[in-house]
Amino acid sequence: MSEFDLFARLGAGKRDFDEPICSRAGCENPAEYRIEWNNPRIHEPGRIKIWLACGEHLDYLRGFLESREILVRVHEMSDDLDELPIT
Ligand SMILES: [Zn+2]
Repeated sequence: MSEFDLFARLGAGKRDFDEPICSRAGCENPAEYRIEWNNPRIHEPGRIKIWLACGEHLDYLRGFLESREILVRVHEMSDDLDELPIT
């Protein structure tokens, strides 16, 4: 591998890291929403799990969590992280 190729690969890896993608299996769209959820049966209280969703899969992923009553809240990716206690 030439030095040029090495830098190209490092650059590609960094780009993947910087651009979060949708959590839906098989989807590689850029994430537009942050879905926060907590399952009290498997997580300690107050622990927040985050899924990322593109516009296309927001309704699917949110519906999945809502039907199990473990959805906490949905934010746009550009929103600041919400550190408020869960009520
Ligand atoms: Zn998606």
